[in-house]
Amino acid sequence: MALICPLCQAPESIAYVENEDGKTPYACLICERYPTRATPYAVVTTDPAPCISCGGPIVDTYRYGATGYLTDIHRTACPRCGRDRTVKEKANASDNAERALPYPRL
Ligand SMILES: [Zn+2]
Ligand SMILES: [Zn+2]
Repeated sequence: MALICPLCQAPESIAYVENEDGKTPYACLICERYPTRATPYAVVTTDPAPCISCGGPIVDTYRYGATGYLTDIHRTACPRCGRDRTVKEKANASDNAERALPYPRL
C-alpha cells in the first residue's frame, strides 16, 4: 500500500516505511518530491483518490510539527465501505504528470 501525494495528488505514489517513529515516506513516484516538509503546523489533506472496491473517496492527511517537519500521516478510509485501499490509476497518473511538465519533452 502506498499513499496519495499531497503535492501532485497522484494516488499510490508515496511509498513509506513504518517503524516506532511513525511513517517515513519516500519521494513521490510521479513528481519526485518528498512530502516531508511544509509550513509549521500545516495540516495538508490530499484530493480524494477512488476506493478500490466502490470508488468512494479516500484521503490522506499529512500533519507537520513546529519545525515544519512531517509528524504524522493519517489515512481516512472510504466512508461508503470502510476499505482504505486506493485504485492505482497508472495511465491517468502518468498522463497528468506529462501534462504538468513546464516544458514539452523533446
Ligand atoms: Zn507527487
Ligand atoms: Zn469504498
